[in-house]
Order: sequence, then C-alpha cells, then structure tokens
Amino acid sequence: MTETQNRWFALEITVLEAASEAIEFALNELDSLGTEIDSLGKKKTEQIEVIGYFNKKPSDETLQKRFNEALRVYGFPNEAIQKTAWREVENRDWLSEWKKHWKPTETDKFVIAPPWETVENTGKIVIKIEPNMAFGTGTHETTKLCLRGIEKHYEPAMSFFDLGTGTGILSIAVAKIKSQVQSPKAQVGKFEKQTALNLGRGTWDSILACDIDEDSVEIARKNAELNDSGIIEFYVGSISDETPKFNFVCANVTADVIVPLLPLLVKRAENILVLSGILVEQEDLVTSKLIELGFTDFDVAIDGEWISISVLKV
Ligand code: SAH
Repeated sequence: MTETQNRWFALEITVLEAASEAIEFALNELDSLGTEIDSLGKKKTEQIEVIGYFNKKPSDETLQKRFNEALRVYGFPNEAIQKTAWREVENRDWLSEWKKHWKPTETDKFVIAPPWETVENTGKIVIKIEPNMAFGTGTHETTKLCLRGIEKHYEPAMSFFDLGTGTGILSIAVAKIKSQVQSPKAQVGKFEKQTALNLGRGTWDSILACDIDEDSVEIARKNAELNDSGIIEFYVGSISDETPKFNFVCANVTADVIVPLLPLLVKRAENILVLSGILVEQEDLVTSKLIELGFTDFDVAIDGEWISISVLKV
C-alpha cells in the first residue's frame, strides 16, 4: 500500500450467507487489503454481498482458484457464488467506508479494536490491532478460540510460543497479561533478546512469535509497538528442532499444517498446547495423532465451524 495511490479496486461477491466466511478466507489468502461483510439479519440460505479491497487486481484464474479452494475446504459447491463484479473506488472513500465497518471484538478478558476506535473503560484488556494484510484482527472464530484458551489456561509466569503469529494478536494478549503483574524487566520493556534461544527454554518473560510470512512479522512488530509490548521476540520462520521449550504454546494455523508439526509442538510445550485453525470435521484428524503421540488429556472448544484443542500436560 503506498501513500500516493488514490485508486483502489473493490471486488463485490454475491454469495450464499453460509459460505461468506469461506469467501473472506479466500480474500485474505489473495492478500486483500480489507474485507467488508454485511450479513446482519440475513439467513444462511440468503444471498449477501462480501467486498474485498485490493490495490491491484489478481488475475481471474487466481481468483477462481482461491475461491474454489476455499469453498471446497468449507464444504460448499462453486455455485455458492452467484456473481462477482469489480468497481473502482477512491482511496479516501475506501478508507472511511472500511473504517465505518470496524467494530471492536470482545472475549471475556479482551477487547480487540482498531487504533482509531476509542474503547470505553470496560475493565477488559484492550488490544489495538491495525487491520491490514495480516490474519488475526480478532474477528475470526479461531483467534477468539485461542484467546479463550489463553484466558482459561495462561498464567502470567508462563513463557509463551506463538506459531503463526499473523498480526501478533495472541502474543500481544499474553504480553498484556504479563504487564499487569509486577515484572521489573517487563515494565521497562528491556528484554535480553537471545535469552529464549540461548537457554533452549523460554524464561519467565519470554514471548516468542513466528510466522513464515515476512509481511506478517513486520505487521506484528508494529502492532506490538502500538501495544507497548516490546517484550515479544519475533522471527520469520516456523518451529524446528532448535525451537526452545515454552510453558504455553499456541498454534493457530490449519489442520494440514498442525498434524505434521504435532511431534515438535508437543515436545516444545511444557504445560499447555492450544491448537486451532481446525474445522469441526477435522477434529479426529488431529486428536488421533495426539493419541498416537500418547496424549489423551485434552479439551475441545467450538465456535461456529471451528474448534480449538487444548492439550493439558500437567
Ligand atoms: N495467530 C493469529 C494468526 C493466525 S493465521 C491469530 O490467532 O489470529 C495463521 C498464520 O500462520 C498466518 O499468518 C500464516 O502465514 C502462518 N503460518 C502458516 N503456516 C505456518 C508455519 N508452518 N509456521 C509458521 N507460521 C505459519
């Protein structure tokens, strides 16, 4: 996104309400700058409009491929999309239109809001997220499931590893919980950058976050700054044999990414492992692998079509 660009492209997709989430997912995968959806009061069987904003148009073949893929993953036929149409928008209009549609998302402990929203004093922890190209603005069910997993199982003295950090939201949530309790190191925002990696184990104030997507890591760093969460260490990449051990590990990726990484994930999580990005029908795929690895104590939480699985190792 550049300052000088003053024209944007909006792709309007008329789709079955039930399949709108699949379309939002595809738009995210297509690097859409933002999406708009208005399904208020609509039934699952009704047609609604989902809008994706772009600074350059993807090719028709790419669009088709991503939409078909997403519809297939969510279990809808290609015909769930009734029509698509492009329109050009002025930069100014686009920004203000988009901002109008942004509403804070809440869980029991957290309120996630874009930087321009003023959040009234709700007694909750406020996480400011600049919604742009990375996944994790708080509105997705899987993000909320992970935040709930953190609310339930995370204790301030635990080190934390965030696989697939996106906007950085989960690590920021943890950094905010930590900052509520007294930690001289965390308070001054000073962090011995290499501690976790050198010791082979996350220490009291270690929060380590990674993403294979370089842009996400850059966005996550900015969001961490926006939330005074300088304690978080970020890197571009994934989990490996060199990844240290952490008390709490969270991986909100997809089931096909989680399953092959499970042997590493369970070894790196000392107390709690929260997995999400898993569709309801993929539960067995993940739990059977967990059982194979010797873990039988887990909690499954559900939100819409998505689940999270929390493995309790203590
Ligand atoms: N943690 C955020 C974002 C989840 S989206 C939230 O809960 O909302 C998943 C992220 O995982 C994406 O940003 C994607 O780039 C990243 N990702 C996918 N596969 C990965 C892998 N193998 N290792 C690390 N990150 C991965």
